Amino acid sequence: MAITPTFSARPRVLVVGGGYVGLYTAFNLQKKIAKTGGIVTLIDPLPYMTYQPFLPEVAGGNIEARHAVVSHRKHLKHTELIQGSVTSIDHENRTAVVAPANGGENFELPYHDVVMAAGAITRTFPIKGLAEAGIGLKTIEEAVALRNQVLSLIELASTETDPAKRARALTFVVVGGGFAGIETIAELEDMARAAVKLNDRVDQSELRFVLVEAMGRIMPEVTEAQALWVVEHLRSRGVEVLLNTSLDNAEENNIKLINLPDKSVAQQFDADTLIWTAGVMANPMVRSTDFPIEPRGRVSVNVNLQVNGEFGVVPNAWAAGDVAAVPDVTGGLPDGTCVPNAQHALRQAKRLAKNLWASRFNKPLKGYKHKNLGAVAGFGQWKGVAKIMGIQLKGAPAWVAHRGYHGLAMPTVERKFRVLMDWFITMFTGRDMAQLENLEAPRATFVAAATPKPKPAAAAPVEAPKAEAKEEATAGK
Ligand SMILES: Cc1cc2nc3c(=O)[nH]c(=O)nc-3n(C[C@H](O)[C@H](O)[C@H](O)COP(=O)(O)OP(=O)(O)OC[C@H]3O[C@@H](n4cnc5c(N)ncnc54)[C@H](O)[C@@H]3O)c2cc1C
Repeated sequence: MAITPTFSARPRVLVVGGGYVGLYTAFNLQKKIAKTGGIVTLIDPLPYMTYQPFLPEVAGGNIEARHAVVSHRKHLKHTELIQGSVTSIDHENRTAVVAPANGGENFELPYHDVVMAAGAITRTFPIKGLAEAGIGLKTIEEAVALRNQVLSLIELASTETDPAKRARALTFVVVGGGFAGIETIAELEDMARAAVKLNDRVDQSELRFVLVEAMGRIMPEVTEAQALWVVEHLRSRGVEVLLNTSLDNAEENNIKLINLPDKSVAQQFDADTLIWTAGVMANPMVRSTDFPIEPRGRVSVNVNLQVNGEFGVVPNAWAAGDVAAVPDVTGGLPDGTCVPNAQHALRQAKRLAKNLWASRFNKPLKGYKHKNLGAVAGFGQWKGVAKIMGIQLKGAPAWVAHRGYHGLAMPTVERKFRVLMDWFITMFTGRDMAQLENLEAPRATFVAAATPKPKPAAAAPVEAPKAEAKEEATAGK
């Protein structure tokens, strides 16, 4: 495979993935590396970083979709950007293979250092019908599609006379009781109720929301008492919260739920909307590299964020975020590694950039250490739950804390400003209820208009009255 000559020949720091870790690592290194004659190259199939904690609010129409993503080109002006996926890495030979996102042949890219920042993907189980009926919530496109789907189904139900079809359209199921699942069902419920208020042909009592969680509790990030409060809060809003319950089958959108652990049937019903937020797993592309991989499929790193295997540190290789098993010296997961969240990803990226830079001058590296600050979650306007540095909040104060935290955490001043403006406007005007149609086939009306129509058939000549008809008419007189 030939090396594509259009890319820089300068010694390269290759950043694989442009999410939290990739964006911040590239941002913190791009100018320094350029000054030493090198270049930072960031590869991602997407031209933007997605602020994933905002996905439920995008789905709920509180934040404009484009405001929840950060353009790589606008904010990484000193970084070489390639829109594509890294399909494999041969670190021994310091080479990555890249598949361009918009077509064209795969090519090899040489590098000096590599930073693995390819994040996580939605983790699913082999459940029949899930792939056909379900949708995840890991990308901005999924959030936009969900919002349109919920609003479209309410419209559909409003003109549907078959009660079974109406019920199916107005039933929304979320599987997974972690932060993402709870925030998603709460935001969608809030938005759906607002949409039904505007539609006389649908009654609020027809809306059905079902949250399915396999464990005996939801939201492990908050205290048990807070989790119980959230369950009560959701139930008071009419959300059915089913604990110790699992999705068994979703073929033809017929949702079969079973009780755990006995696997008896809990419920079976039809639903047009099935949202899967039951966990993530490290990006499986790391298996196409020669890096050490730990049992949970993440790249093994040491506390300095250097890739680290049984034979010690792998030179010039770094990893952080959801794709890496970063030791958590303050506790963390049962295996002593950091939980996959934005709080860690952002801080690890900054530490990684400093350590990579220090390694260039053989200076001592500093270990990553961050004690979890807590968690904040929003459940629609003025509702939420939070546990920040031991302080527990619920309701409106938690919602304000949620907005304050994420407003500050959103990368770049420009994006912060746009999101804050969205929230400010929504406080006075309510959430944006406009739904965009035909996004999948935007050319359909133009194609119909531009397609030459067959000439109308020539008008049939007026036939002379038939003899019989004439006779009948005469006989009838
Ligand atoms: C709905 C939702 C809500 C969340 N809420 C919170 C929250 O409230 N608080 C919190 O702390 N965390 C939250 N998280 C988790 C947080 O968003 C992640 O932990 C964080 O994004 C991890 O950062 P990362 O850089 O490791 O991965 P990501 O941000 O996922 O970035 C990975 C990047 O790699 C790219 N990529 C993938 N494959 C390839 C490839 N082969 N080649 C090149 N690039 C590739 C992807 O396109 C992506 O841009 C939430 C996550 C979700 C899904």
